[in-house]
Amino acid sequence: MIVAERKSIPELIDILQAHNRILVLGCGTCVAVCLAGGEREVSIISSALRIAGKVKGLTFKIDELTIERQCDNVFIEQAAEAIEKNEAVLSLGCGAGVQAIAERYVNKPVYAGLNTKFLGILEERGVWTEKCAACGACVLHEYGGICPVTRCAKRILNGPCGGSREDRCEVRPDRPCAWQLIYQRLKAIGQLDRLKQIELPKNWSSSLNGGPRVLIREDHRI
Ligand code: SF4
Ligand code: SF4
Repeated sequence: MIVAERKSIPELIDILQAHNRILVLGCGTCVAVCLAGGEREVSIISSALRIAGKVKGLTFKIDELTIERQCDNVFIEQAAEAIEKNEAVLSLGCGAGVQAIAERYVNKPVYAGLNTKFLGILEERGVWTEKCAACGACVLHEYGGICPVTRCAKRILNGPCGGSREDRCEVRPDRPCAWQLIYQRLKAIGQLDRLKQIELPKNWSSSLNGGPRVLIREDHRI
């Protein structure tokens, strides 16, 4: 799931102050699950903006709407009327959602209301951790399903670095050493032999390709 967090109200006021009629547009998928951009947050942010706007002498007229997914044109269509009748859109989607709206409404200012952080999972109530950097060439099968790219602070593919103390990461002592986890996991599934292989440097060209990466599934083309 894509994990994001809300921008602060003072920052949003700065971004929006040139506009009067604003649509606060939520997204009902990833950012709703991480309590950043769903229907509830649309309501909270809209109320906060109305109050903070008044304090600053700004007359915001704010509409609220949440669609299922902002990164999908089928769902964006459901917001067409609300987008058209407002001067600007404050999108509470992830970075992809904001850009999807902006691409479709080329004459409409569309602003990001969230800071998109990473691909992660919910560890416990209110705590999400990064699990994947979308590197484009997944090596999880080599590491027992534990990603050294995101979970080792030094991104070491042939670890450990030797700095770990009592199972903790040298760089981030608040986190377990990813290589300790990889070792334990490979041992548990009977694949410790994998550690004898020297992994070649990762081919980052599939993640840093000099431009946006594109995935085309021929079997999904009409
Ligand atoms: S190896 Fe790459 S694609 Fe696989 S989990 Fe790690 S960052 Fe994500
Ligand atoms: S202590 Fe472990 S997780 Fe931290 S940088 Fe070294 S190998 Fe990576």
